[in-house]
Amino acid sequence: MLFLTFWPVLLLVIFEVAISYWSLSTINTQSTATHNQQLQDLAVVQQAALFSQDIGGVHQKVSEAINQAQDAKLSEVKLYILHTEVVDTLALLGEQVDSLVNSELLREVNHGSVLRLQQAFEGYRRFIIMATDIIAIDPNVAQDYVQQAQVNFVQFSVYIQRITYLLSQRAQVRTEQEFASQQQFFYGVVVAGLVGLSSVLLIILVISGLISRKILHIADALSIVANMQDNKKIALPHIEKMQATDGGEFGRIAGALLGFRDAVARRKQAEAEAFQLAFYDPLTQLPNRRLLLERLQLSLSMSTRNKQLGALLYFDLDNFKAINDAQGHQTGDLVLVELAERLGKWAEGTDHIARAGGDEFVVTLESLGMDKAQAASRAEQAAESLREVLNKPYKIHDTRYFSSPSIGVVLFGESEDSVDELLKQAETAMYSAKSNGRNQMRFYDPLMQQVILERARIESELRDAIVNNQLQLFYQVQVDQSGRASGAEALIRWHHPEKGLVSPAEFIPIAEETGQIVAMGEWVLITACQQLSRWQQQSETAHLTLSVNVSARQFKEQGFVQQLADIISQSAIRPQYLKIELTESTILDNVEDAIEKMKQLRQLSVKFSLDDFGTGYSSLQYLKRLPLDQIKIDQSFVRDIVDDPDDAIIVQTIIAMSHALGIEVIAEGVETPEQAALLAQKGCGFYQGYYFGKPSPIHEFDKALSKF
Ligand code: C2E
Ligand code: MG
Ligand code: MG
Repeated sequence: MLFLTFWPVLLLVIFEVAISYWSLSTINTQSTATHNQQLQDLAVVQQAALFSQDIGGVHQKVSEAINQAQDAKLSEVKLYILHTEVVDTLALLGEQVDSLVNSELLREVNHGSVLRLQQAFEGYRRFIIMATDIIAIDPNVAQDYVQQAQVNFVQFSVYIQRITYLLSQRAQVRTEQEFASQQQFFYGVVVAGLVGLSSVLLIILVISGLISRKILHIADALSIVANMQDNKKIALPHIEKMQATDGGEFGRIAGALLGFRDAVARRKQAEAEAFQLAFYDPLTQLPNRRLLLERLQLSLSMSTRNKQLGALLYFDLDNFKAINDAQGHQTGDLVLVELAERLGKWAEGTDHIARAGGDEFVVTLESLGMDKAQAASRAEQAAESLREVLNKPYKIHDTRYFSSPSIGVVLFGESEDSVDELLKQAETAMYSAKSNGRNQMRFYDPLMQQVILERARIESELRDAIVNNQLQLFYQVQVDQSGRASGAEALIRWHHPEKGLVSPAEFIPIAEETGQIVAMGEWVLITACQQLSRWQQQSETAHLTLSVNVSARQFKEQGFVQQLADIISQSAIRPQYLKIELTESTILDNVEDAIEKMKQLRQLSVKFSLDDFGTGYSSLQYLKRLPLDQIKIDQSFVRDIVDDPDDAIIVQTIIAMSHALGIEVIAEGVETPEQAALLAQKGCGFYQGYYFGKPSPIHEFDKALSKF
């Protein structure tokens, strides 16, 4: 390619030298020709001037001789000499005139004038010679001849001048023509030079474009090769083509680059093999214990940093030893391979599975949430689904083998347990599952085990609760600054056949997880709206608002807006008295969708309250975007408002911020008159809490209303 760049430069030099040489030599030839012509013309002009001078000389001599002859002072000898001299001089001049007349030059100029010039000269010569002939005899006649000669001389002079004029005119025309042609020539040369130059520049541009494209291909290929992640030989079509077609430097570079790529691929291959050997189990291709320890360490620190719990599932096959002993290691190996395949599919390609050794395997679960009970429940669900997958028979050489797993589970992310410690705990839990009868999962923490069992029980009992009408709504009064009842919050209760009244904190999260909340939430909305409708039919209670809690899962349901609209129209309430309580996490889950739903419901005049405000991450900026009517200050701030100046400031800020945004504020969990007084002083508009009234069944609530 460098060779290619040499050519345009060489071409440019040759072209410019040729143009210069050609133009200089053309100018030289032209000006030499003009110069010669000018010289010839000048010679003629000089000769013409000499003619006049010579003839003038002759004329003077003859005139003097006539004067002397008239005074008889001229001897015959002198006369003879004069005659001879005049004849010779005129003969010489005659020859010169003849040669002038016959010259190419004067023929070109004006042949007619030249011929008349010759005639004038002949006339002159004739009369002068006749005058010199007759001087001695009659000077007066000679005088007459001289006068005749004079006439011819005048004519001769006129033609000489004319010819001189014509010659000078011709010289002028020639000079002008030469100037014009030189100018034209000059422009021609300039244009040709520019055209040549630009074509060469164009060639250079095209070639440098080609070069830079090749350089770009090389740079791209280099960065691709440098970033090669695995041992697959990446195709580099441009470079391969360059190597095949370019015989020069670029061809060599392309060759080297392809060699480099192959070397990198080989190195990656070797690295991958070494990595595989060091970190993967050769039989199942699963991560080995070493990689497991590394990854687990990473999961642990991530969990602690993100405040998210995780779980370790440690399991082995209950009768693997029996298969191995009875059928031989080969069959045992095939069972393990099949198990690894199932495990891989179950984990959906995540790398959080490993073979810890023998028939023992480990699964790591991350991001199980912040709540311990919830995390335990999720871990339990995962363990159960794993148990189901592994309980299917293993078909080896047309024989079916059964081998259930025993799974030990331990949660991590809460304390600073080491990886070894965790593995030991999970293993202990696994042995406890085995001693408990095999084919089951067991938590290391007995409390967790208890929680899980309890949750499982609640889940099944909750199903009956909805069907058997064990749910009830309690109502807690809300008051305004003047102490007048402004409304109530509906709070669900479960009348458990054995446990009595169960708090929603115990069953709402489980109902959320299992999806039972959807049916339960519908029941709450219907019951609350029926109550609101009853209030609205009586003048003393018609002004009351009713706040209803809606959980995240319920609010996220596709048909939620329509469902509520139907309930509103069926209960025939004035919907502006219905307030939906949402928490920040419900909205934050999918802000755009939440805003859209809130806007749609607002069109029905339904109001919105942001529950437990202050416990999440709400910022002023984000509050502005939400179509809210009320903010509910969380009870954790209200609880210590009197003693903790920090809480007092937070509450004050929330109230000021809400007023600025035109949002109403209610404080929940108000238990003492001091709290109520302080809140009133800070500008809080509404209050809810045990100080004003505990949540109670409707008949008690209605009775208590009369106090307000
Ligand atoms: P929440 O919506 O923040 O309800 C306020 C909770 O504070 C209620 O607990 C209420 O009984 C309690 N409370 C009221 N005043 C005071 C007070 O002065 N001091 C103290 N310490 N507590 C007070 P509850 O009824 O146990 O409800 C707990 C949570 O369960 C509710 O919190 C709400 O998130 C949820 N919940 C209740 N009913 C429903 C429902 O119908 N649907 C849904 N999705 N969630 C509900
Ligand atoms: Mg609430
Ligand atoms: Mg609350």
